[in-house]
Amino acid sequence: MKARLQNVFALNAAPRAITPQQPDLRRILCVFPRYSPSFGTFEYSYGLTMGTRAFMPPQGILLIAAALPKHWQVRFIDENMEPATDRDFAWADAVFVSGMHIQRHQIDDICRRAHRFGKVTVLGGPSVSSCPDYYPSFDYLHVGEAGDATDDLIAILTHDVARPAQQVVLRTKVRRELSDLPAPAYELAKVDRYLLGSIQFSSGCPYKCEFCDIPGLYGRVPRLKTPEQVIAELDKLVDAGVAGSVYFVDDNFIANRKAVAELLPHLIAWQKKRGYPIGLSCEATLNIARTPDILAMMREAGFETIFCGIETPEADALKEIDKKQNLTMPILDSVRAINQHGMQVVSGIILGLDSDTPNTGQRLIDFIAQSQIPMLTINLLQALPQTPLWDRLTKADRLIEDEGRESNVRFLLPYDDVVRMWKHCMKEAYQPETLYSRYQYQIENTWPNRLKRPNSRARFAPKNVLRGLVMLTKIFWTLGVRADYRRTFWKYTLRWFRPGQIEFVIATSICVHHLVMFARDACAGRTNASHYAHTQRSQGEEAAPQIAAAE
Ligand code: SF4
Repeated sequence: MKARLQNVFALNAAPRAITPQQPDLRRILCVFPRYSPSFGTFEYSYGLTMGTRAFMPPQGILLIAAALPKHWQVRFIDENMEPATDRDFAWADAVFVSGMHIQRHQIDDICRRAHRFGKVTVLGGPSVSSCPDYYPSFDYLHVGEAGDATDDLIAILTHDVARPAQQVVLRTKVRRELSDLPAPAYELAKVDRYLLGSIQFSSGCPYKCEFCDIPGLYGRVPRLKTPEQVIAELDKLVDAGVAGSVYFVDDNFIANRKAVAELLPHLIAWQKKRGYPIGLSCEATLNIARTPDILAMMREAGFETIFCGIETPEADALKEIDKKQNLTMPILDSVRAINQHGMQVVSGIILGLDSDTPNTGQRLIDFIAQSQIPMLTINLLQALPQTPLWDRLTKADRLIEDEGRESNVRFLLPYDDVVRMWKHCMKEAYQPETLYSRYQYQIENTWPNRLKRPNSRARFAPKNVLRGLVMLTKIFWTLGVRADYRRTFWKYTLRWFRPGQIEFVIATSICVHHLVMFARDACAGRTNASHYAHTQRSQGEEAAPQIAAAE
């Protein structure tokens, strides 16, 4: 069998020049799996852009790629853009895969394809680190962060790339400082084909919200990169052609406030020096609103959006899920404080909590109207392994493994009622008129507080101007001519369309279109109700990644 596979390998391999080869040279194929469509995939927006194919470059697998010996050859393929081909598998000595639970089926599919070519497979990343037993097919499991497991893996593959007789599990026992790790190998990715750039400053979160697996996976004491590392990575991203905006994927950007306060002056100086080439966004706990000095510096550094896990507007529910940090000041005041510094809030919301009542959906709709938050990821509760929620529901026999369900939780309210409530909230939140009116609020109340970025050459480089013109043309055609909500589009866009606000028109149109179309799919049952579930839907063939999930 092995000989036959090797023949297949030979037949499909791309012709290569025969060159003397170091005996320990290895060819590593890093494959990042497709995401099933979900709220944060933004797949509906790609058709409005100039060639965007996926959401953000994945940090973890690019970091491992950078940590491999310098003389090894590494190829990176994000299957959200294009599938790895037979030639890629044939070329490789080993195939590395990384992913989250939501990508579980696609992760296994890559393993199957690699094994068809007889290639040794390695799986790392958050899903396998949390649940190694989900993946019996892989040859090596890399459990935990980059560290001693990575060193062991490199040593093994240097010695031998044959498939082991049985699965080998390598574990990182000591978490390494981020300052000891290299910059992700952005140069291997088609950075200019992503909607956003991604970067990581810290890992870990000091809080312990009941549903969240971040503290268990990455620890409660945040580990940090140095400001110099962050600046070098931003340079690398911009030089690689990152378009528009870079997202800090930290679990909680203000997990260590002192460190953030030290980082921000470096970001400000870098933006000034390079002519504010990009906007910035991050994930942070809502209590960032209590740090006006940090918010002021974030404004000056060009931060435009903060994703906050508000989860629920109800105080008792927040106490129940151990998210009391959201209650240090009234939630609406927190949102306003962030808006006053020119930053828009994106909110995570969870339905299906034990404290939910039949009125929870309406209270959420009221909260959305009061807060004027345009974009909210409204999830159904999903219990993740290695969380206090998982432990509690296991003891109570309230976990259900059934891919036909929208959640693995046995809710206290009837399941059908909860799903109906979720659909109702999605429908109401993303009616074009109400969504546009929330953006109208932002343009009147948040945008005027934003830093006026200089009209620098970096911002108005010919490629950026061309990108803007192409996007505007597509937006006018798709939303202004073809969309059934075109009257609403023109009603608001004609108000906004003036010098200095074109970027707002583009950014808003992209978001509106995705949100409206996604909500329609959600209400029709064509998408998952939780961004953390790995249920496959009929649209799973479409390539699209997911917004970072933690905070
Ligand atoms: S939900 Fe956010 S604040 Fe809570 S533990 Fe997770 S990362 Fe930390």
